[in-house]
Amino acid sequence: MAEVLYNQNIDEEVLKNKKVAVVGYGSQGHAHAQNLKESGFDVVVGLRPGKSWDKAEQDGVEVKRVADAVKESDVVMVLLPDEYQPSVYEEEIKPNLDAGNALVFAHGFNVHFNQVVPPEDVDVFLVAPKGPGHLVRRTFEEGAGVPALYGVYQDYTGQAEKLAQAYAKGIGAGRAGVLQTSFQEETETDLFGEQAVLCGGLTSLVKAGFETLTEAGYQPEVAYFECMHELKLIVDLMYEGGLEGMRHSISDTAQWGDFVSGPRVVNEDTKARMKDVLTDIQTGAFAKGWILENQVNRPQFNAINVKENQHQIEQVGKELRELMPFVKEQAKSKKEKEVV
Ligand code: NDP
Ligand code: MG
Ligand code: MG
Repeated sequence: MAEVLYNQNIDEEVLKNKKVAVVGYGSQGHAHAQNLKESGFDVVVGLRPGKSWDKAEQDGVEVKRVADAVKESDVVMVLLPDEYQPSVYEEEIKPNLDAGNALVFAHGFNVHFNQVVPPEDVDVFLVAPKGPGHLVRRTFEEGAGVPALYGVYQDYTGQAEKLAQAYAKGIGAGRAGVLQTSFQEETETDLFGEQAVLCGGLTSLVKAGFETLTEAGYQPEVAYFECMHELKLIVDLMYEGGLEGMRHSISDTAQWGDFVSGPRVVNEDTKARMKDVLTDIQTGAFAKGWILENQVNRPQFNAINVKENQHQIEQVGKELRELMPFVKEQAKSKKEKEVV
């Protein structure tokens, strides 16, 4: 098994005498800044004036313009949306990096696919929490944490690995497990997971099930409950006890259906297409498409988004969730966006 580090294996001293700039105060940014601060590190948040700036001030964190925050810091964690990182990096971060500083990311995309090309005289590493930002913050407050991957791309000072581990400990990941990776592995597995399983695979599976039932004449409301609503209950069981734990809670009839019908739906053909998806990620074809899509102002992204939101499962779902006040309450209490 890969080596998993916990708090007792990590020495955070190497980060104690350094100033950390957390650039961005969104899903990940607010969690990193506050967790690091409460872990005793010297933190400044880098932003432009606006909504996030006001929130960071309300939370009692020191805030400065990106360029100023970077200038006075030794470690710069870039927590902007991936699409905007290259331009902010060129204009505000790069000109203010000093030799021996550390440039840090929570996802390897821009460095791995050459959208950010760091200078040779800085450390470059990633610390990628394996969970949404609001959980990085909430679990920390509860005394727990979200596991994280760390990986070194460039070790100029000879301390990059130690710094990465200390940073992971500072955001609370050492309470849950810290695992070594590379920029390539983190980027490719993250993209594959969200495309083939967590987001793309799942939404397509749910829609196909819903359409199969409604096209056969069943009520859309019933189809919604079967193919979307119940999913959360099943996933919670898998999260807690794996496939066996989930299967322990369902009826034997459901378990038999799982065994005989699941592999008819997701089979060797599906796996072959998953391999195609992985190949597009590995060759950079996916990254190139997404980078170009952003350069032309996202025509395809926006068109598909409108069409997806008009799907019958979304219309029915909206009406049914209105009638389930507890679902709305849960959604309200999680104001922040959750991203994988
Ligand atoms: P968000 O979209 O939540 O963060 C946006 C933040 O960036 C806001 O504070 C926004 O401020 C600021 N921002 C945007 N543009 C600029 C700009 N030009 N100048 C200054 N500030 C700007 O990002 P995430 O937290 O989702 O993602 C950050 C990184 O973490 C990404 O690399 C992502 O892949 C990675 N990651 C994210 C996870 C998640 O849970 N979300 C999970 C693991 C990794 P303003 O209010 O001014 O717009
Ligand atoms: Mg049932
Ligand atoms: Mg991702």
